[in-house]
Amino acid sequence: MTITSINPATGENIADYEETSSADVREAVEQAHEASQRWRGRDLAERAALMGAAARVLRDGARDYGRLMAEEMGKPISQGIAEAEKCASGCDYFAENAANFLAPEVVDIGRRKSFVTFQPLGVILAVMPWNFPFWQVFRFAAPALMAGNAAVLKHSSNVPACALAAEEVFLKAGFPENLFRTLLIGSGTVESVIEHPLVRAVTLTGSGPAGRAVARKAGEMLKKTVLELGGSDAYLVLDDADVSFAAKTSAQGRLINSGQSCIAAKRFIVLESVRSSFEEAFVEEMRAAKMGDPLSEDTAVGPLARHDLRDALHRQVETSIAKGARSLLGGKIPDGPGAYYPPTVLTDVKPGMPAYHEEMFGPVAAVIPVADEAEAVEVANGSPFGLGGGIFTRDLDRGERLASADIEAGSVFVNATVQSHPKLPFGGVKESGYGRELSHYGIREFVNIKTIVVA
Ligand code: NDP
Repeated sequence: MTITSINPATGENIADYEETSSADVREAVEQAHEASQRWRGRDLAERAALMGAAARVLRDGARDYGRLMAEEMGKPISQGIAEAEKCASGCDYFAENAANFLAPEVVDIGRRKSFVTFQPLGVILAVMPWNFPFWQVFRFAAPALMAGNAAVLKHSSNVPACALAAEEVFLKAGFPENLFRTLLIGSGTVESVIEHPLVRAVTLTGSGPAGRAVARKAGEMLKKTVLELGGSDAYLVLDDADVSFAAKTSAQGRLINSGQSCIAAKRFIVLESVRSSFEEAFVEEMRAAKMGDPLSEDTAVGPLARHDLRDALHRQVETSIAKGARSLLGGKIPDGPGAYYPPTVLTDVKPGMPAYHEEMFGPVAAVIPVADEAEAVEVANGSPFGLGGGIFTRDLDRGERLASADIEAGSVFVNATVQSHPKLPFGGVKESGYGRELSHYGIREFVNIKTIVVA
C-alpha cells in the first residue's frame, strides 16, 4: 500500500510513500514506550532545553515548512510560515511553563504530608488532520512531551511529507530517538494501534465521524481520549455593531486557511436592522481576498486541500441554493486545474439547508438574518456544534454577558475572530468534542494526576 501526496493547486502527484507495515507499527510503539521510560526520568530543565531547540528548528525552517504545506495541502505560503512560527511559540511556551504547570500541589488534609503530582502516561497516539498540518501536531506534542510522554502520530493521508517533517523537527532538535514517531498508516489501521497495550491514550482532531470511531474503540479499550472535532462558529452581528469593522473581521475569520479551519467564522447571524449594510460591506471584503497560487506571497485564498473536499463543499452550496438560499458572491467552481473554490456568500440561510446545519469547510459564509438578540442566541445555540463563537457590539458589557452566559461554545470572542493561543485553553462542547488543549489545562490531559498521602 502507498500513501500519495498530491498538489491540490495542480492535481499533480508529488510523491508516493510506502505505508508503515503492521509489524513496524508495533515496533514503533514499543520503541516509543522504551524511549518514554528514560524520558520520564529526565528532569524538566533538560526536557525544556530540547523543546526550546525544537522551537529554533521550526523558526529556522519556517519558509521550507511553509512551502511544504503549500505544496501538499494548498495553504498560502505566508500563512504556512506564520503557522511554523506559531508552533515555535507553542514549543517555547511549554518549555518555559511546564515546570510550573506540573509542580506538585500540596493539599492539607491534616496528615503529615499530602500532595498531588502529575506523572506521564506513556505513549499517546495522535490522529491529526491536514488543515493545520504543523500546528495541530505541535500544540499536542509540545505539552505531551514536556509532561514526559512519548507520541506516535497518524497524520492525514494527504500530508505524509508534513508528518515526516514533524518527526524530523524533534530529531534535529536532539530529542531521544523514537520518542516521537510518525506512522504512515491509513485510518483503517488506527483501531489496531489503539488496541496496543502500550498505547495509553488518544487525541484526535478532525471530523465527527472520525472522532466517534476513535472514541468508540478507545472506550472499548478503556483509554482516555481528547477530541477536537468540527465547528460551525456563529458570529452575532448585533444592532449596535460597528458594521464595517464587523464585516472586515468576519471576512478574515471566514477565510483563514482558505476557510478550512474548525474555528473559522461560519454562520453570520445578523440583526435585520444592520443586515443590508453588513451584507454589502461583507461581500466587498470577501470579494477583495485574492485567490490564487499558494506559493505566491500575496495569495489570501489557496485551493482547498483535496478535490473531493472541494466537490463536497460545492454540493452543500448547490443544495442550499436549491432550498432557497441566495448567493451574493461566488458559488461557482472556476475553470482550470486545482481544487479552487472562490469566496462565497450565501444569505437567507434557513433551517433545512446544509449551510444552516452543517460545517462548511471552505470559504463559504452563511448569513442568517434574525429579528433580535434573543433569536440570535437561539439560532447560534441551535447547532450541534459548540466550538467557538463571536459577537460584534459596541456595548462591551452586553458582549461579555452574551459571551459568558448565553453562547454554548468552548470560546467566545467579542469584537474579534476566534483564535487559539498557547496561554488559553482550546476545545469545544457538544459535538465539537471534549477535553482541552493548550495552557495548563492542556498539559494536564495526558498525565496521571496522582495523590500521595504520608500519614
Ligand atoms: P477526517 O476527520 O476524516 O480526518 C482527520 C484524521 O482522522 C485523519 O488523520 C484521518 O485519516 C483520520 N480518520 C478518519 N476516519 C477515521 C476513522 N474511522 N478511524 C480513525 N481515524 C480516522 O477528515 P477529512 O480529511 O476526511 O475531512 C472531512 C471533513 O472533516 C472536513 O470537510 C471537515 O468538515 C472536517 N474536518 C475538521 C477538522 C477540524 O479541524 N476540526 C480538520 C479536518 C477535517 P485519513 O486521512 O487517513 O483518512
